[in-house]
Amino acid sequence: MDALKPLIYDLDRDGLKEILTGWNQPAFRVNQIWDGIYKNLKSAPSEWSNLPADLKTLLSERMSFQALKPVDRLQSEDGETVKTLFSTPDGKSVEAVLMKYEQRHTLCISSQAGCAMGCVFCATGQMGFSRNLTGGEIVEQVLYYARLLKTENEFVTNIVVMGMGEPFQNYDNTLEAIDRLNDSRGFNLGARRFTISTVGLIPAIQRFAVEKRQVNLAVSLHAANNSLRSQLLPINRKYPLEELIPVCREYIEITGRRLTFEWALIQGVNDRPQDARELVDLVRGMICHVNVIPLNPTQSFTGKATTADRARDFAAILNEAGIPCTIRLRRGIDIQAGCGQLAGKHKN
Ligand code: SAH
Ligand code: SF4
Repeated sequence: MDALKPLIYDLDRDGLKEILTGWNQPAFRVNQIWDGIYKNLKSAPSEWSNLPADLKTLLSERMSFQALKPVDRLQSEDGETVKTLFSTPDGKSVEAVLMKYEQRHTLCISSQAGCAMGCVFCATGQMGFSRNLTGGEIVEQVLYYARLLKTENEFVTNIVVMGMGEPFQNYDNTLEAIDRLNDSRGFNLGARRFTISTVGLIPAIQRFAVEKRQVNLAVSLHAANNSLRSQLLPINRKYPLEELIPVCREYIEITGRRLTFEWALIQGVNDRPQDARELVDLVRGMICHVNVIPLNPTQSFTGKATTADRARDFAAILNEAGIPCTIRLRRGIDIQAGCGQLAGKHKN
């Protein structure tokens, strides 16, 4: 039944106000409910001790407080990575992963069920596209983990939209979710704590640039020439490097922000010294940072992860050329924490 009720996390403050006004509720109830959800991390109307019983009944009868049902949860051996597979009311799979690292609690969330971009090494790409997530469904992934962390007196410090899906294909809902979580009267996570990763959808990057948000942007590059990039990321045929890179330069100019490029190192494919040098030539002069990560092997892709030595050599070439490069650890490899990998396992 919940599926038929509007999800409360899909509402902004005005939307909530409108509903409450329709129920003849005084305006201050908006704050009580908003604070309850986004500051105190309540998950059901029964948890509000400051609301009258009849309003709690209305809320439970007419609004949904849970669209995402956790159906599987995996924890890495070191306990530092927790991955949850959720099921939406219409039976779609969505994943979110929490990575604890030093003082950081970074959450990797999904923007779509599946993905239409078809990147060959990506488990989500291999399963195809189901649908866009709503803003509320994106927000709920964060609230789920925030509630979990609260039981340990901890909180979410960073959010990366690097789970399932292409966030710039679901631009409005993704940004709506970030705005909701950024709201200083609610969840209040600073805009700089968010990173959106895109496969390189040019019109959306241009739109994002002129909106001048403080949110970080990462572009998945993985290859510095069109022939390899088109093989790995089919969208490169539509938005090739000679168009993508100038738009990235423009983004940096307009926003004054450092851009991140992502590079999944695949043994013998894009992890050789000449690949690193090609990348140096491509991004020279840009205020950027390169994140390399050894490939997470997936079912339908024969490529292998690079070795630690080769990853270090690759990063060294970039660093020596003045392009900051960090090697991201493969977190949670034992729990299939790579993009879309858990959902892929559950799909029959
Ligand atoms: N659709 C967006 C964000 C989700 S994917 C994008 O493509 O950027 C997040 C990152 O994980 C991307 O850089 C993507 O290329 C990378 N990725 C996907 N599958 C991977 C795998 N099997 N191993 C390593 N990185 C992978
Ligand atoms: Fe989609 Fe990103 Fe996976 Fe490509 S890498 S298929 S864009 S989720």
